[in-house]
Amino acid sequence: MAEPKIKKIKSTVKMKEILADYFRELDEASRTGSKPIAWCTSVGPAELLHSLGFLVHYPENHGALLGATRESVEYIPKANAIGYSPDICSYLTSDVGACLAGKTPLRAAYNMEGVPKPSVLVYNTNQCRDVEDWFQYYARNWGVPIVGVHTPRGLTEVDEPLIDNIAGQIENLVEPLEKIAGTKFSAERFSEVVGLSRRTTDLWWEVLSCAAKVPSPITFFDGTVHMAPAVVLRGKSVANEYYETLLEELHDDIEHNKAAVEGEQIRLYWDGMPIWGKLRDLAMFFISQKTNVVASTYCNSWVFKAFDAADPFRSMARAYTELFICRSDYYKEDYITNLIKEFQCDGILFHDARTCPNNSNNRYGMPERMINDRGIPAVVIYGDLCDLRCYSEEQSRLSMEAFLEQIRQGK
Ligand code: SF4
Repeated sequence: MAEPKIKKIKSTVKMKEILADYFRELDEASRTGSKPIAWCTSVGPAELLHSLGFLVHYPENHGALLGATRESVEYIPKANAIGYSPDICSYLTSDVGACLAGKTPLRAAYNMEGVPKPSVLVYNTNQCRDVEDWFQYYARNWGVPIVGVHTPRGLTEVDEPLIDNIAGQIENLVEPLEKIAGTKFSAERFSEVVGLSRRTTDLWWEVLSCAAKVPSPITFFDGTVHMAPAVVLRGKSVANEYYETLLEELHDDIEHNKAAVEGEQIRLYWDGMPIWGKLRDLAMFFISQKTNVVASTYCNSWVFKAFDAADPFRSMARAYTELFICRSDYYKEDYITNLIKEFQCDGILFHDARTCPNNSNNRYGMPERMINDRGIPAVVIYGDLCDLRCYSEEQSRLSMEAFLEQIRQGK
């Protein structure tokens, strides 16, 4: 039997170029000190940082790169050896371990001197406490200033007093950040960046929505790659131009009925983190099963429909507090059910990522509730985002094959 092929996305060439430019600019600023660099959590207040003239580095992006290149497995034990548990976020342990080893995949990929040197570390605990502890490592060891936003989690409702509080915390960042950047805050510039971010997010959602078509021209695995501009370049017109190009290609695919998975028969929803070191293997597995993973919580995490250039602080507070990851299971179950309908999915695959309880939604009975109360088939596989020692390929494959067979029989 011929080996299944992954459908090429032509726009990838352009994406690689804009990412190379982004890293080149960071590297130059890091080497010459020409511009201040902020490290920011992936759903931290990036728009405020851009408006103040910071270049922004996202350590989670570095963690994903360490996972995708499988270098993380070598570095995690180095962080464990200085007291960072193997059970905490493996982005954190991969990144800190790589720092201890003096290594980074950014050298081979972008010819960079190393990870960009930060002038400030900026976090938001909306996703987990690990991000604050992660940045504290660098604050302690490198003496870099650290500031952040503390967001409560497990929220069913996001009400106005909470938005007042978060917006106030973001406003309080302005003064220390102005001092570090050596610039004055401009409300006009801030509003402009939030407007650009809103456009990025709208375009990214349009890209993801192409997968609602049957057959879908894109997979979850494509999404984990093509979300890079939404993560690291949101608020920049270059990201928006990129998504316009990608959309043109995907609309053309839809018009010509070009499926990402030839002969698509089953459509799935992926909940939880990607398994970065196994993206290709999993993509190939699903192609061989004529199954497409068409929707996910993960890729949707960079869709911020609340951004509003006319009300930048409050809309940003809302956007970064309404995230799926900060919400209660009541909210999450309704959210997933709506997407299952919209994307015509036959079932949910929950990834229990060993080191990320924050984004593993299977641990408090959700799969059983989805099956029993909502009639949606579900399966759980056990793995991790970066620590491949937690992932049993054989066992996961058997669970997924049995699950797909169950769906086939139910159709
Ligand atoms: S949400 Fe999970 S993967 Fe992301 S930083 Fe927190 S613990 Fe790590």
